[in-house]
Amino acid sequence: MQVDTDIPGGNALTEILGDGQIAVRPDLRDTIGNWFYWYFRVRGAAGRRLTVQVAGEPRTPVAGRGPTVSVDAGRSWRWLGAAEVHDGEFAFTVPQDCDDVRFSLGMPYTAANLDAFLARCAGRAGVVRHELTRSEQGRRVEMLQFGRIDGGAEARVLLTCRHHACEMMASHVLEGAMERILAADDPASRWLFEHVEFVVVPFVDTDGVEAGDQGKNRAPHDHGRDYGPAEGRYASVRAIRDLLREPQVRPFDVVLDLHCPNIVGRTSERIYFVGSPDADNWAAVQLLAEELEQAAVGPLPYRRANDLPFGTAWNVAGNFVTRDERAVPQQSIGWFLDDEPAAGMHAILEFPYANAEGAEVNATTSRAFGADLAQAIERYLRRRVPTSNR
Ligand SMILES: [Zn+2]
Repeated sequence: MQVDTDIPGGNALTEILGDGQIAVRPDLRDTIGNWFYWYFRVRGAAGRRLTVQVAGEPRTPVAGRGPTVSVDAGRSWRWLGAAEVHDGEFAFTVPQDCDDVRFSLGMPYTAANLDAFLARCAGRAGVVRHELTRSEQGRRVEMLQFGRIDGGAEARVLLTCRHHACEMMASHVLEGAMERILAADDPASRWLFEHVEFVVVPFVDTDGVEAGDQGKNRAPHDHGRDYGPAEGRYASVRAIRDLLREPQVRPFDVVLDLHCPNIVGRTSERIYFVGSPDADNWAAVQLLAEELEQAAVGPLPYRRANDLPFGTAWNVAGNFVTRDERAVPQQSIGWFLDDEPAAGMHAILEFPYANAEGAEVNATTSRAFGADLAQAIERYLRRRVPTSNR
C-alpha cells in the first residue's frame, strides 16, 4: 500500500501506522497559524479496509459532511458523511477494482479540471485562452475571455477565483457559471453571451492550486491580501491590477471574486456576499443580491439576510491588516476597487464547502448555483444597461 500527495492539489503529512491504518494532517507549509485543507491518494489497497485518522488544530479538519472520497482517480467525489467520523477517525473499504482511492477535505479542482471543462465546451463556443502572466514558479496563469469580445460589449464582467488556493468549491461554481453563459441556449445566457464581455482568472494562485497549498494566510501575506498600497507581491495580482486599470477599455461593470469560508463558525455553511467599506458599492451589490435571491432556484439557497456588510462578523478592518513584520495594511481586491474612481460594482462571494443552509454542496449543486449566479448577473446588468433590447 502506498500513500502519497504527489498529485495536482495534493496536500497532507501522512504516515502509515499499521495494517490499513493511515494518519494524516494538513501540511501547513508557509501558512501563518492553522488551516484545514488536505488531499491524498492511496494505491495498492484494492479490496482493503482502510482506517484514516485525520488530525489538525484546533479540531479535526473535516467539513460539515465529513471527508470526501474518490474511487476514480479524482474525477468524481462524494461526501462520506459526518456520522462516519468518530474521534477524528473514519473507515473506508476500497472497492476490489480500485487501485487509486483519494480522500480530501473537499472536492479538488485543479488545472486538469479546467482543461477537461474547456475541452467539453470546445465544440460550442469560443473561449479565448490568454496567458495573464507567469507565476512565481513559472506556470502559465490562465485568463479566459468569452462572450462579446470584439470591443462592442455593453458591459464587462471580471470573475476571479482561488486567491486562496485551497478554496476549491468556488471553482465548481465558476465552472457552472461559465457553462451556463457559454451554452447560450436560453434568453438570459444568450443575452450575456451576445452583449457582455467576460474575463475570468480561474486560478489567481496557480502555483498554490497545483502544489496543494493552503494559500489562505500564506506568509507574509496571501494573494487575497495583495492589493495594498505597495506594488503587489504576486505576478498574478499585479496583472489583475493592470486589468482593472486598463486605460483603453471601459472599466468592468461587475467584478466578482469567489471564495470559500472557514469550515467552522457562524458563517461556514451559507452563501453570502462580503462588503468592502464603500457604502455606494455595497448598495450596488445589494441589487445583484436581490437578483441572486430570486435566481437561486437550483438546489442551493442564497438569502440576502446572510450577507456580511463591512463592519460585521469577521468582516472588520482588523482582519485586513497584515500580520507580518512590515505592518502595512494589506487589502483585498474589493478595497482596491473602492479607491478606483471608475470601478464598477465589486464583491466577494463566499461559497461553503459542504452545506448551504442544510443543502448539500457538491460539484453538481455548486455548478447549478453557478448557473443561477450567471442568471443573476444577467438580470443585474439588464437593470443597469437600459440601452440593450430585451
Ligand atoms: Zn478566500
